[in-house]
Amino acid sequence: MAEKRDYYEVLGVDKNASADEIKKAYRKKAIQYHPDKNPGDKEAEEKFKEAAEAYEVLSDPQKRQRYDQFGFQGVGGAAGYGGAGMNMEDIFAQFGDLFESWGMGGGGGFSSFFGGAGGGSRQRVRRGTDLRVKVRLTLEEIATGVEKKIKVRKLVPCKDCNGTGSADGKEGETCPTCKGAGRVVRQQRGIFGMMQVQSECPTCHGEGKVIKNKCPHCNGEGVVRDEEIITIKIPAGVSGGMQIPVQGKGNAAPHGGVNGDLLVLIEEEEHKDLVREGNDLIYNLLLDMPTAVLGGQVRIPTLGGEAKITITPGTQPGKVLRMRGKGLPIIDQYARQYGTGDLLINVGVYIPEHLDKDEKKLIEKLQDSPNIAPGSADKKNFFRNLFG
Ligand SMILES: [Zn+2]
Ligand SMILES: [Zn+2]
Repeated sequence: MAEKRDYYEVLGVDKNASADEIKKAYRKKAIQYHPDKNPGDKEAEEKFKEAAEAYEVLSDPQKRQRYDQFGFQGVGGAAGYGGAGMNMEDIFAQFGDLFESWGMGGGGGFSSFFGGAGGGSRQRVRRGTDLRVKVRLTLEEIATGVEKKIKVRKLVPCKDCNGTGSADGKEGETCPTCKGAGRVVRQQRGIFGMMQVQSECPTCHGEGKVIKNKCPHCNGEGVVRDEEIITIKIPAGVSGGMQIPVQGKGNAAPHGGVNGDLLVLIEEEEHKDLVREGNDLIYNLLLDMPTAVLGGQVRIPTLGGEAKITITPGTQPGKVLRMRGKGLPIIDQYARQYGTGDLLINVGVYIPEHLDKDEKKLIEKLQDSPNIAPGSADKKNFFRNLFG
C-alpha cells in the first residue's frame, strides 16, 4: 500500500483552514472523483476514498484535533494497526445525503462501480458492522504497553446452520424483487444530467438471494448474538481518545460475509499521585520547612516504583526538578517508540499555619537572625525562578 498522504494535503487546504473551507475543498474533490463521473476508473476511486477519509477526520473538530496532535494514529488510521481506511459503502453511508445535496449520486453506494453498465449480476458480499469498546488503562499500563482480554457481545455465525441462515442447508433462491441482481435501478437528476442510480435491493439487501426455509435458531439471518473474549495488544505510549482498530473482530455479517472491525477506544485512568502532560509526568512535592532549609532525601512516586531524590539545602518553592526518562514512551504514528518523556517535580514549601507556644518562640528567635531576611539579589532570583 502506498504511503498515506497528509489529510490537509489530500484536500489541498492549509492547517488553519476553517470548517467551511474544508467542506468546499472536499466538495471539489468529491465532484471530481465521484464514481458516477468516473465509472470503472480505479485511480479515481482511490482518490475519492482518500478525500472522504480526509474529510471524515477534518470535518469533526475532535478528530481533527487528535489528528493535529498525534497524526494518523490519533484517529485510528495508522497503517501499523492495519487501519483499513474507508470503503465505498462507508463513504456513501456517511456522506450520501451530502452528495445528494450537492447534486451527485449518493444512493446506497452502488451507483456505478458495482458491475457498471451491462456488468451482469454481481452480488455484494455483506460486511458486518463495526463494534466499539472502551478500554480504561492506568498510567502504568500505558508506560509498558499491555494485553487486555475483553468480553464483547457481538454477532457470530449461527452454529445450527453454519451461518447460512437455511434450515435445510439449501442455497437461497433468486430474489424476486431484483431477479438476483442485488440492486435496483432508479432515475435521478444530478449535476451531470439524468443518471441511472443503482441502489441496494430492499428485499435481499444486495445478496440477490432469499432463503425460503429459514433456520429457526437465527431466523434465517445466519448470525446470532453471543459473547467472545478478545485479546487486544495495546502498545506502550497510547493516550486517551486514541482509537485502535482490530480488523475482523467486529460483528459477523449475515450469510457468510466479511466481519466488521472492533474499534478500541482508549481511556486513561487517573493516577493518585502523577498527572500526565503529553509524554511527561508531573508530581507536586510539598516540602516541610526544615527539609527545604536543611536539605535531605525525599521519596518520589514514579511509574516504576518509588525513587529517592536529594533536596539541596536552601531549595526554594517554585523550583522544578526533572527526572529524565521517567515519563511515558513517545511513539510515532505506527506506535514505534522513539523517546521517553520526563518526570517533572514541582517543589512547594509548606509554611506552617498553626504553631504552639514553644514553636512560635523558636521562629521568633530566628526572625532577627542575620540569614533569615532575603537580600535584594535573593528576591530577584526567587521571582525570576518562579515566573521566568
Ligand atoms: Zn441459523
Ligand atoms: Zn433482491
